[in-house]
Amino acid sequence: MSAKGLLFDIQSYSVHDGPGCRTLFFLSGCPLHCEWCANPESWRLCEKVMFASSKCKVSKGCSRCIDKCPHDSITIKENKLVLNWDLCRKCTTFSCTKACFYEALKLCGKYYEVDELLKIMDRDRQYWGENGGVTFSGGEPFVQHDFLLKILKKCRDRYIHTAIETTGYVDNSIFLNVMNYVDFAFIDVKHMDKNKHKEKTGVYNDRILENIRSLKESKWPGRLVLRMPVIKDFNDTQDNINHMVSFMKELDLFEINILPFHRMGDSKWTQLGYEYKYKNEEPTSHDKLEKIQTIFLDNDIACYIGHETPF
Ligand code: SF4
Ligand code: SF4
Repeated sequence: MSAKGLLFDIQSYSVHDGPGCRTLFFLSGCPLHCEWCANPESWRLCEKVMFASSKCKVSKGCSRCIDKCPHDSITIKENKLVLNWDLCRKCTTFSCTKACFYEALKLCGKYYEVDELLKIMDRDRQYWGENGGVTFSGGEPFVQHDFLLKILKKCRDRYIHTAIETTGYVDNSIFLNVMNYVDFAFIDVKHMDKNKHKEKTGVYNDRILENIRSLKESKWPGRLVLRMPVIKDFNDTQDNINHMVSFMKELDLFEINILPFHRMGDSKWTQLGYEYKYKNEEPTSHDKLEKIQTIFLDNDIACYIGHETPF
């Protein structure tokens, strides 16, 4: 695997993704394809083009990108720019993005050396306070596990607190090895039923549940909070929550963060040329979230709604 890591975003001053104030590194690549995903630009482990039609000035006479595309992927139809996504997904030049002054066509993803990320940490460190640090998110950060392990080891050398947001969908030996260098983890469990899990995410959940189980058995000293996005008519049923409660109690896990569904990823699906199945779905109601929270609380499991995490 490359010595460089591909990231699709870096954010400073986050207070919702682990304790204290944190710098977030979003690593590209994800083996899951959740139908409600808010970061579909993370899926493929490669640079890619995104097209924001709302910023495009073709109706005002701009057409700078058209001649710059070596694959003749861009056409104008009814005064609007149209990309041939089959061609754009195979593109490696992204010449169009350099021609667009309006950021309608943008390149998503950038390769970084470990040392470049360490410089960003040095810059941000003064804002972290006593409890803060860095969080590796995605996508699925374990897709680039060699790079992840390298940067985590450097963090450990520098006494930097590390957190991870993961689907847990990775080979068990890699998972346990990398987790040795992680202080705090959010692990997603989208559904307790393996077939239902596959139906909406593209993969079975066995490996995820097994990794959580083995992490507990390994006496890992970090803090683990499970996470569940609440998706209507999928995982918000009493039966699924009961299974989640049983699983957590069996493993002595007593913290879960439930996340309301939102449509904030909608425009990204369009900008990548994908169809978003959840574009008409309403955000999860607070009433629904509180009902689920009550089930966990009744079972002595702390349940944090959305950003109400106790950090
Ligand atoms: S991403 Fe590549 S193929 Fe697509 S419009 Fe830009 S230059 Fe052409
Ligand atoms: S260069 Fe940018 S603004 Fe101009 S037509 Fe192309 S995408 Fe639109």
